[in-house]
Amino acid sequence: MSTSFEPGAPTPEGFIPLCVPEIRGNEWDYVKDCLDKGWVSSVGAFVDRFERMTAEYVGTKYAIATSTGTAALHLALMAARIQPGEEVLVSALTFAAPVNTIRYIGAHPVFMDADPHTYEMDAEKVIEFLTKACDWQNGALINRATGRRVRAIMPVHILGHPVDIDPILEAAARFDLTVIEDATESLGARYKGRMVGHLGHIACLSYNGNKLITTGGGGMVITDDPALAKRAKYLSTQAKDDPIEYIHEEVGYNYRLTNVQAAIGCAQMEQIDVYIAKKREIAARYGQAFADLNGITPMRQADWAESVFWMYTMLVDESVFGMNSRDLMRELQSRGIQSRPLWHPVHSLTPYKNEFAYRVEVVDTLYRDALSLPCSVGLTDAQQSRVIDTLGELARVTA
Ligand SMILES: *Cc1c(COP(=O)(O)O)cnc(C)c1O
Repeated sequence: MSTSFEPGAPTPEGFIPLCVPEIRGNEWDYVKDCLDKGWVSSVGAFVDRFERMTAEYVGTKYAIATSTGTAALHLALMAARIQPGEEVLVSALTFAAPVNTIRYIGAHPVFMDADPHTYEMDAEKVIEFLTKACDWQNGALINRATGRRVRAIMPVHILGHPVDIDPILEAAARFDLTVIEDATESLGARYKGRMVGHLGHIACLSYNGNKLITTGGGGMVITDDPALAKRAKYLSTQAKDDPIEYIHEEVGYNYRLTNVQAAIGCAQMEQIDVYIAKKREIAARYGQAFADLNGITPMRQADWAESVFWMYTMLVDESVFGMNSRDLMRELQSRGIQSRPLWHPVHSLTPYKNEFAYRVEVVDTLYRDALSLPCSVGLTDAQQSRVIDTLGELARVTA
């Protein structure tokens, strides 16, 4: 039995991985088409089609395919012209990638707390910070503690569930802030009926191997704003102003997605509704099974949310369950079931421990107690039963 398992690697017999890609549609045919026709690089019909399918699905006017989700976030920040030394609000409970991109451009994160029930960025504390800890001076919002200008908010919709974004949008409009959604984990989710990725000024998607749909690696910038779209596209293609003479007026990047990857993406997009239905089915069954399991609190869906349950997560109360989340992870691993904690809170990681954090109070408890369970789209009923039964047995053993 393997003791470590990377998403995307072949599954050892009997082992239930956390979350692996599902490739069973037209991927093979579309990739073959690229190879047969020779359109393998960064232009081609599948890139255009993948962008159109995505824009149509989310409802945005524009979509720009990128090499990764991280590249998409970097482009979004640059397109929005966030400047070095300015500040961007972001939750401390997230994968580090969005925070890293804030540093790529020389800006600074302002770490916000998470809601204890949804684990998402705490909207109330965002408003509290903006209205009580900042001053409006000469048409700019200044963080009183750092003296820096607050320019943007980056709500990261983690685990497939949306951030409570309306109060954030309202405050952003009032203080002239740009809202950059990191929708990399929540493609297809809805907030009060509206699509995640179509809520702020600009949004980013990811097609990494463990995301809802995958291109192996890839991302997308989506927006309704023609100026933001144009600039994101320009910077993603080396800021080339003249393709014959190679004139570049700015420092650019090569952040394009290849046609081969986009071909996989098109085939994946054809299946997205099936995948989401499967994710919700898995979540519903876990939710039911764990409702009466003492010490386990399954992730919840807010009334205003339609989650896609990308990464099924629960909280383990050590004093009741008899085992903490990390011991449970090891017990599951020894029984061939992969699970994983949430990310180490970013505000206390080495590169970020000197950045400003505003009343970050519940993130550490969530990090201590949370555990994500196997939730691949291809998870079978039998596999899910095994996860449920194993948890039940472990609970009994310790009772
Ligand atoms: C996956 C992920 C990203 C980055 O996507 P890549 O395609 O892996 O670069 C960014 N933000 C969050 C929250 C993610 O989970």
